[in-house]
Amino acid sequence: MERCGCGERDVGSVRGYIHSVETMGTVDNGGIRFVLFMQGCAMRCAFCQNPDTWLRRGREVIVARVMREILDYRPFFEASGGGVTVSGGEPLLQHRFVRALFEECGRCGIHRALDTAGYCKYGDFASVLDSTDLLLFSVKAVDEEKHVRLTGVKNDVILANLRLAASRHMDIVVRYVLIPTINDSRQDLHDIAGLVASLPGRARADILPYNRMGIVKWKQLGLDCALEGVPEPTADDLARARRVFHEHSVNLRTD
Ligand code: SF4
Repeated sequence: MERCGCGERDVGSVRGYIHSVETMGTVDNGGIRFVLFMQGCAMRCAFCQNPDTWLRRGREVIVARVMREILDYRPFFEASGGGVTVSGGEPLLQHRFVRALFEECGRCGIHRALDTAGYCKYGDFASVLDSTDLLLFSVKAVDEEKHVRLTGVKNDVILANLRLAASRHMDIVVRYVLIPTINDSRQDLHDIAGLVASLPGRARADILPYNRMGIVKWKQLGLDCALEGVPEPTADDLARARRVFHEHSVNLRTD
């Protein structure tokens, strides 16, 4: 029988498969974060920084053991306003593990952020949202054809999941990776800013500049990267994108 590190209650030995752990992360949310990168993703984004997470094999762990490790960092979370972020790959492919982990974090008073692309059944998504404090939701493109070209899948389920999450009035940051010539046309920017503006509740947006560092991993894995010749956005590109979000009165994340 496994116990949570708080020793307050028994937890099931829910298993998950992880790619890696970053114990002092600072970029995925405010404060010092324990970032757990889950293994497996059903999407194939052309700009993916972590193509080595795509396959569903990785290090097997159970919730109680991960919790014990997390609790070692609680003083850092408390001092910095940080907590736990579960990312990937796509963490919702392992929704039972993420839910069990987040429930334990909640019992121990640890802030929980879920970093997802939302490509899963709504029931699986909702089961994790109940124990999520902050939702970091990536939208790759609003135009469906463009989304298929960029990710290999349609975005109807993804956008429906985003709207359903927003209807809960939870803390949401919609993330948009800005990729020159791919998803940064004036229409693309109005589409994504308009989408965020239309959500109920208090959704903010975060514009992330595409960076080419992931291409190295693609090459190491023997994969052809479709964005090989695509540049990173300039400061002017980012400023232009921010202006469109401001036109739609969308709050951009600043923390
Ligand atoms: S959803 Fe994330 S992990 Fe999956 S392919 Fe896209 S960028 Fe990579």
